[in-house]
Amino acid sequence: MAHERPRFIRCGNCNKRVKVGPVGRIPVFCGNACRQQSFVKNTRSPLTADDWRRLTADNRRQRLVIWRVLQEAGLIPADQPLPPDKSGNAA
Ligand SMILES: [Zn+2]
Repeated sequence: MAHERPRFIRCGNCNKRVKVGPVGRIPVFCGNACRQQSFVKNTRSPLTADDWRRLTADNRRQRLVIWRVLQEAGLIPADQPLPPDKSGNAA
C-alpha cells in the first residue's frame, strides 16, 4: 500500500463528513447534489458587474473609433451618426 486510505473525508462543497469505503476511489463530495453545486460554482463567469461595465465601455469606444475611421475614409457620410449597438450589450 502506497498511501493509507482515510476513514472519512470532508465534502468539497458542504464540508460534511463522508465515509470512505474500503475499496474504490476516495470521494470528493458527499453526493451528486454537492458535486453539481461545486461544478456550477466553478463554471460561473468570474467576471463581476464592474468587469462587464468596463468591457462594454471598451466596446463602445472601439465602435466609435472604427466609425470615425470609416467616415474619414469616405466610406460613410461624415454626418451619419453611429448606429445603435446590436451586439446585445446594453448601451
Ligand atoms: Zn456535501
